[in-house]
Amino acid sequence: MTYQSFNPATGKLLKTFDDLTDAQLETKLAAAAACFETWRHTPYAERAVIIEKAAMLVHDRVEELARTMTLEMGKRIDEARGEVEFSAQILSYYAKNAERFLADTDLNPTTGEGHMESSPIGVVFGVEPWNFPYYQLARVAGPHLMAGNTLVIKHAGCVPQCAIAFEKLLLDAGAPVGLYTNLLISHAQSDRVVDDPRIKGVALTGSVAAGRSIAARAGQNLKPSSMELGGSDAFIVLEDADMEHTIKWAVWGRMYNTGQTCCAAKRFIVVETLADTFIAKFQAALGALKAGDPLDEKTTLGPLSSESALTDILKQVDVAVTHGAKVLIGGKRVDRPGSYMQPTILTDVKPGNPAFRDEFFGPVAMIFRVKDEEEAIALANDSDFGLGGSVFTKDVARGKRVASRIDTGMMFINNISWSDAELPFGGIKNSGYGRELGDMGIQAFVNKKLVRYV
Ligand code: NDP
Repeated sequence: MTYQSFNPATGKLLKTFDDLTDAQLETKLAAAAACFETWRHTPYAERAVIIEKAAMLVHDRVEELARTMTLEMGKRIDEARGEVEFSAQILSYYAKNAERFLADTDLNPTTGEGHMESSPIGVVFGVEPWNFPYYQLARVAGPHLMAGNTLVIKHAGCVPQCAIAFEKLLLDAGAPVGLYTNLLISHAQSDRVVDDPRIKGVALTGSVAAGRSIAARAGQNLKPSSMELGGSDAFIVLEDADMEHTIKWAVWGRMYNTGQTCCAAKRFIVVETLADTFIAKFQAALGALKAGDPLDEKTTLGPLSSESALTDILKQVDVAVTHGAKVLIGGKRVDRPGSYMQPTILTDVKPGNPAFRDEFFGPVAMIFRVKDEEEAIALANDSDFGLGGSVFTKDVARGKRVASRIDTGMMFINNISWSDAELPFGGIKNSGYGRELGDMGIQAFVNKKLVRYV
């Protein structure tokens, strides 16, 4: 059974769901393909009415949606509410801007005239992770539905109730059957969906392993794909950083969503002159976090999303220590029911230690001391990932120069890696390819067609 909803704060099983049968899957794919034939010709203004209504319903249902998320994957309730509201903003952003983003653009050929037009391509298959159960769905639904495509979505096995709630709100907003379809399917069925000729594009957010598997399959079928994978973002602290500001963002950047964020700050690269002060303050701030019920607003440390997520990351810490890393604080599970991990700081992680190249998808910070800016840049770039990164310095011009030399898809000065509806999000190297959100996000699955005339 792929779809099981467990409360990671208690370990209790909440609900289970059967996978779709192959016959049920076929009915849903046929409906998505049939819906495309009318939706592709539906004017932007009519599409926008449904997507704006969906945004409004997300906003109206914030408490219910946030609670479902907290119960299913453990996100602290205030963060859960924030994610729900952000999801509404993304839907609304595309409802308002899609027509402008996809308007014809004039070209100036040497002879005659020409323009580019953008048309939808068909049914797009999304494979999405549990760590932002609604934001991830809004990030594909907003742009691709407004572009005139229809969507079939395989959400992660541990958040079926979030997946179903999102599909329901689109239907409640007036979406025709087949516009947005949640598929409770296995990996084998997902492979067959990628192969299905009615599917014209594939968008995945998840681990490198999932990306390799689904991207290879899409490639075999010559279908366009976008891959948003993991990250091990550098958080660079230069000697002229404002310490209070830096510590505030260091804690948030590592601990938001209990550290289970692709673009979380994971490698703290600190110039030697500030390192002792940074470490002392960071350690004190992490040590002050209190594990508790994520539904309680006073809780500052939530559980990991599942027991297996906890045991995996504890094993990763053990391996790091076996290879010479030192545990400054934490490193163990919290002594209480549920899948809680102590906030953890690792130092002395040297090249050759698996931790040096791995992603820690949880509350584990690695701190590296460097001599100067040059060493910081070299270390930041010594990674298989290339999602985001941060530079902290009072000199913004210097921050920009450093940012330009870091090989990632996104860089942030005096702030942590984050996303906004209007800004492109995505990475390079093992962090994947393609961009979601902003103008670029809606261009991923449209046919950019040249029309030339003399
Ligand atoms: P997974 O890759 O295991 O899961 C993500 C999604 O992919 C789930 O829906 C999962 O389904 C599905 N999936 C996994 N393998 C396959 C397969 N072979 N065929 C079809 N579907 C598959 O990742 P995690 O659950 O471990 O999520 C965390 C990872 O995702 C981290 O590495 C993180 O960095 C990355 N991530 C990246 C983001 C980005 O924007 N770049 C955002 C969020 C997370 P099922 O649950 O049924 O296995």
